[in-house]
Amino acid sequence: MRLSDPVTKIKNVGAARARMLQNMGIFTVEDILEFFPRRYEDRSEVKTIDELEENAENTFKAVIAKTPENVHVRKMVITRAELADETGHIMAVWYNQGYLKNALKMGEKYIFTGTVSRKYSRIEITSPEFEKLDSEILGAGRIVPVYALTKGMSQKVLRGMIKSTIENISEQLPEFLPKKIRMEYKLCDRNFAIMNIHFPESDDKFFIARHRLVFEELFLLQTALFKFKQNYNKPDVGLVFKKINNIIPVCEKALGFSFTTAQKKVISDIEKDVCCGNTMNRLVQGDVGSGKTAVAMAAALLAINSGYQAVIMAPTEVLASQHYESFKQFFDCFNIEVCLLSGSLKKKEKDLAIEKIASGQAKMIIGTHALIQKNVEFFNLGLVITDEQHRFGVRQRTLLSEKGNNPHIMVMTATPIPRTLAIILYGDLDISIIDELPPGRQKIDTRAVNSTYNHRIYTFIRKHLDAGHQAYIVCPIIEESDSIDAKAVMTLVDEIAGTEFRDYSVGILHGKMKNDEKNKVMTEFAEGKIQVLVSTTVIEVGINVPNATIMLIENAERFGLSQLHQLRGRVGRGKDASYCILVTDSKGKVTRERMKIMQKTNDGFEIAETDLKLRGPGEFFGTMQHGLPQLKIANLYKDAQTLKESQSAARKLLKEDRELKKDENALLAERIVKMFSSVEKIGI
Ligand code: ADP
Ligand code: MG
Repeated sequence: MRLSDPVTKIKNVGAARARMLQNMGIFTVEDILEFFPRRYEDRSEVKTIDELEENAENTFKAVIAKTPENVHVRKMVITRAELADETGHIMAVWYNQGYLKNALKMGEKYIFTGTVSRKYSRIEITSPEFEKLDSEILGAGRIVPVYALTKGMSQKVLRGMIKSTIENISEQLPEFLPKKIRMEYKLCDRNFAIMNIHFPESDDKFFIARHRLVFEELFLLQTALFKFKQNYNKPDVGLVFKKINNIIPVCEKALGFSFTTAQKKVISDIEKDVCCGNTMNRLVQGDVGSGKTAVAMAAALLAINSGYQAVIMAPTEVLASQHYESFKQFFDCFNIEVCLLSGSLKKKEKDLAIEKIASGQAKMIIGTHALIQKNVEFFNLGLVITDEQHRFGVRQRTLLSEKGNNPHIMVMTATPIPRTLAIILYGDLDISIIDELPPGRQKIDTRAVNSTYNHRIYTFIRKHLDAGHQAYIVCPIIEESDSIDAKAVMTLVDEIAGTEFRDYSVGILHGKMKNDEKNKVMTEFAEGKIQVLVSTTVIEVGINVPNATIMLIENAERFGLSQLHQLRGRVGRGKDASYCILVTDSKGKVTRERMKIMQKTNDGFEIAETDLKLRGPGEFFGTMQHGLPQLKIANLYKDAQTLKESQSAARKLLKEDRELKKDENALLAERIVKMFSSVEKIGI
C-alpha cells in the first residue's frame, strides 16, 4: 500500500466506508495517517464507581443498569439513567437531550466522563460525555486514541483501519522538516511521530511523537505567515509623514472629548512609526468601547496632512456607514473630503466614489470589502487601516495594502486575541494596547438565567424603555428550524411584539435582509425610533448606540465567550448603567464556566484567555476565522512553549533562505502550499 492510494485499498474499506471517510476529509492513505486523535483515554485514570471524586471530573466504565427514562419538567426534558459497576451505582442526568433515552442501551457498557456531585445522600453525574466501550480497544500503552467521528463510524472500526494501514504501508512518510531544525530542536522523524501518535508504544514515545507534530504544525503556519508578510513588509524606508504640532488638542477639539491616557500613548506610538521613516505595521488592540476609532482618525489626519490618502476598511455595511458619519464629522472640521465606498451604493454613486479615490480628490476613504475590488485604484495611498481585523482574512488585508506603494498599516481589533494566538498571527507586528476605557463607563452588570425568567426579564426591559432607554435582544438563528433547537429572531418577534412589548416599537435585523433595509433599521434604532432591536449577531461588531442599555442574549450557550463579550460591548457605551442578560437552559459544565466568567469580569483579555482554556484539547482555537488553517494537533494554550520555539526556528530559516528556494527546503515549501490550500478554497 502506498501513501497516495485511495482509502479503498485499506482492508475492510468499501464504498460505504470510503464515503464516511470522505465526510471526515479523508481520501487517501496518507490522509488517514494524518487524521490525528482528538483526545486520548488515559486508562490509568479510569476509576471505579466507589472511587469517584465529588465535584471533580471523573472517568469511569459502567453498564446501564436500567432502561433510561425521560422526565418532562416545564419545557425541559430530563434523561436519567442508572449506571453500575461491580463497586456501586450512580445516577446520570442529561438535560434537553431526550434522544439519549434510546441511544443508551440497557446492559451495555460505556465509558463516561463528567463532573460528579452529591444530591442529598446520593451521587450523581451531570451531562457526562460517553462512548460505547468496544470489546477490545486497540493500543498497547495506557494511552488510547479517541478520534472525532462522523455518523455511522465507530472508534473501533476507525482504529482498526488505521492500525491496518500502519501495518501494511510499504513506504515511509516523507520528512519535510530540514535536518538542521530537527537536530537543533530535538525532534523525532515524521514516520516515527505518525505511528506513535495513533498507537504509542509507550508514554514516552507518545510525548516525543506529539511534540514533533505540534512543532511541525506551528512551524509550518508561522513560516507561511512570515513569508506572506515579507511581500509587503519591505525592509526599505517607509513613507515619512509630517508631524502635527499639538496633534492631541487639535484632534480633541474636533472630537469634542479628551483622549484617555491610553489613547494618547497609542497615538504617540503611531507618530513614532509614521513620522520617522519606519514602515508602520501595528496592531491596535483595545477592548470594546475603548475608543479605537478616534485613534484611527488621528492617524489618518497625519497621513492626509502630509498629502496622502488614508483608508479604513470595515467588515460590514452598517459599520462602514457608521464610520462614515463619524469620520465626516471629524474631517469636516479640517475641510477634508471623506468618501464612502460600499457594496450597497447605487452604481452611479459607486462610480463617482471610485473616480474621486483615483483622482485623489477623496482624501479619507471609508469602505467595506468593496475597496479591494480590482477597479478601485488609489491616487496615493499612505495609510491603510483595517477595523475589526479578525473579520478579515490575511489575504484581504494584504490586497488592500497592495493598493498603495508600501503604505503604513494599522489593524484594529476589539476581539482580544489571546497572547499566544497574537504571536502566531502577528509574530513581527508591533502591538499597542488601549487598556483603559473613557471616563464614566461602568461595569456592565451581567446575569445568567434560565428561560423560566422570561417574564421577569421583559418587565425589567420595559422599565428601562419607559425610562427612555433601548434594548437589544440577540438570537442565534433567524428562523425556526427542526434541526437546531434554538430561539429564532422571527419566532421571538412573533411572541413579544403583540404581547409583552405591544406598546413599544420592535425592530428586526438579520443577515438575510438587504443592505438598505439593514441600514434603515440601524438608523431608526440609532435615532431612538426603534426601542427594542431583535437581531442575530450581525450587530456584533462595532455598532455604537449609547442610549441602548440592555443586551439580552438567548441561547447564550451557543456563542463563544469572545462573541458574548463583543455582543455585551454594544451596551454600556453611554453614561447610564447597563445590563447584559444571558439566557441559557444548558447545564453543561463548559457553559456554566462560561457564564461564570462573563458574570465575574468585563475584561476582554481575561475572557479570551479563559476561552482558550475552556476549549478542550481537540476542539482547538477557531483559527479559521482569522484566515488560518484549522490546527489539527497543537493547542495554543498548552503548547505555548513549543509555539515560541517553532517561531524562532521559522525566523531563522527564512533569514537563511527567504524564498525557500534551497533544495533542502523544497519539500517544506510544497507542504506549506498544501496546508494553506484548504483556506484558499473557502475564499479567504
Ligand atoms: P471601539 O474601540 O469599540 O471601536 P469606539 O471608537 O466606537 O470604540 O468608541 C466608543 C465610544 O466612545 C464612541 O462613542 C466614542 O465617540 C467614545 N469615545 C472614544 N474615546 C473617548 C474619550 N476619550 N472620551 C469620551 N468618549 C470617547
Ligand atoms: Mg470599533
